[in-house]
Amino acid sequence: MNFFQNIFQQYSWAEVQQSILSKTAADVRRALNTSRRNLEDFKALISPAAMPFLEEMANVSQQLTQKRFGKTIQMYVPLYLSNECQNICTYCGFSFDNKIKRKTLADKEILAEVAMLKAMNYDHVLLVTGEANQTVGVPYLKNVIKLIRPFFSHISMEVQPLDETDYTELIAEGLNTVLVYQETYHQEDYKLHHPKGKKSNFEYRIQTPDRLGKAGIHKMGLGVLIGLEDWRTDSFFTALHLDYLEKHYWQTKYSISFPRLRPFSGGLEPKVVMSDAELVQLICAYRIFKEEVELSISTRENEIFRNNIIKLGITAMSAGSKTNPGGYVVEPESLEQFEISDERSPETIAKMIQQQGYEPVWKDWEMFNCD
Ligand code: SF4
Repeated sequence: MNFFQNIFQQYSWAEVQQSILSKTAADVRRALNTSRRNLEDFKALISPAAMPFLEEMANVSQQLTQKRFGKTIQMYVPLYLSNECQNICTYCGFSFDNKIKRKTLADKEILAEVAMLKAMNYDHVLLVTGEANQTVGVPYLKNVIKLIRPFFSHISMEVQPLDETDYTELIAEGLNTVLVYQETYHQEDYKLHHPKGKKSNFEYRIQTPDRLGKAGIHKMGLGVLIGLEDWRTDSFFTALHLDYLEKHYWQTKYSISFPRLRPFSGGLEPKVVMSDAELVQLICAYRIFKEEVELSISTRENEIFRNNIIKLGITAMSAGSKTNPGGYVVEPESLEQFEISDERSPETIAKMIQQQGYEPVWKDWEMFNCD
């Protein structure tokens, strides 16, 4: 059996880091000018040596994105269902050791939140929970998908990693996409940031995309939490993971997100700060490396950055997001998972996208069932 973990174990973090730092302008030129790019090219594109080529990278990224996706931005919105969590994660407001009021939405409350999301025009929803298997385990998730299925044509989920059979069951209910971020591929630091709970199991987490691929998920999202570790090395491992998954589960689509560590109640300071220019570099590098991968940006980023990134490779965007359970109507004052930065309404964001000559896409997918 071929698991990503076996490939991952052949790499050393320090050697990868050194290899990225040693890339030269000639390596970057080669990466920009070849039509068949490999992981060494990706390393060159994310290296410090690529920074003087940022404008050229942005032009190539824009052309490739328009060729594959046209001038479109998919719109999605998170629906936080619960802030109950049995894990300790050093960077999260919902962490078990954070003394906050815990809340899990009941059916009636979920439907009230859904009504608000529909009023905002949304057709693609991202369900989010903490990890509390007694409260928000598979039966809860199954019930929610069944409940909201009539209202959305695309249901995504960002919850605890599950077994392959669980994914199979949820896909049968109507689940389309699963986001599962590794947070960091630095194994020792991963343990420091996840000292308690099931999430402390690095191996189970890194094997999750394999389980999703085997379950036949329509789309999966990868990423790391930028700020926990050296973003360049972490991004290389994400790209390695993506490259592996595309080869093994070629019927699945893939997306990458770029969450930068945001402030929250009692929060962790980033170990490594990534500048806006570096984030643009990373987005362009992914696009140039993989023409078909979807690239998503959330309301963690500020207005100016989000306005400017539209044309540079992004294909999906959230807007009007609340990161607390019941945040839209049921309990707007409850504690957020993290503070959002761009508070503009979906309508305002849609207008901003149109003003740039792009089309906001509310409905991008409909599952065809021929039973
Ligand atoms: S990141 Fe997820 S698992 Fe960790 S504390 Fe927050 S909600 Fe729980």
